[in-house]
Amino acid sequence: MYIIRQWATRHARSLEVFYQLTARLFHACDAIWVGIGIARLERPFAVVESWTKGVLFDCRMCGRCHLSVTGMTCVMNCPKAIRNGPCGGVRANGHCEVKPAMPCVWVEAWKGAQSMRLGNAIRVPLAPRDHAIEGTSAWLRLSAENIDRQRTAKRRADEVLS
Ligand code: SF4
Repeated sequence: MYIIRQWATRHARSLEVFYQLTARLFHACDAIWVGIGIARLERPFAVVESWTKGVLFDCRMCGRCHLSVTGMTCVMNCPKAIRNGPCGGVRANGHCEVKPAMPCVWVEAWKGAQSMRLGNAIRVPLAPRDHAIEGTSAWLRLSAENIDRQRTAKRRADEVLS
């Protein structure tokens, strides 16, 4: 759905607002997701995530989503799957050296980020792709990590107080 992917990049600011609202709602339920069991929810969440983000962003289900810092452009659509900025082969017209008809996803990501409130986040290097988590839900992973962080902070606070 290349046309929709381009639309998403052009509307990165509106999608950023939508993302922040839905992420807040979703993560308000983190304890519920973890209570039900991440493993139990993994399959249905991955199916819904793959479908919705697949339509909007051509999501490749890398397992750790960076849309909110890459201008609402899924940089996993780079034919070289480069996670940290464009390779040295971007053409003078901003197109991909592997697929000349396609604008470089990192050029698109940069354009999208310019319209976002947190657009500067694109300057921070991303963690490398982790093949072990491919195909899993990035949404649930964030929830599990949030709960882990909260539990660790509470344990440390308890240790300090005891
Ligand atoms: S960054 Fe990963 S999870 Fe996010 S849309 Fe792209 S492939 Fe999907």
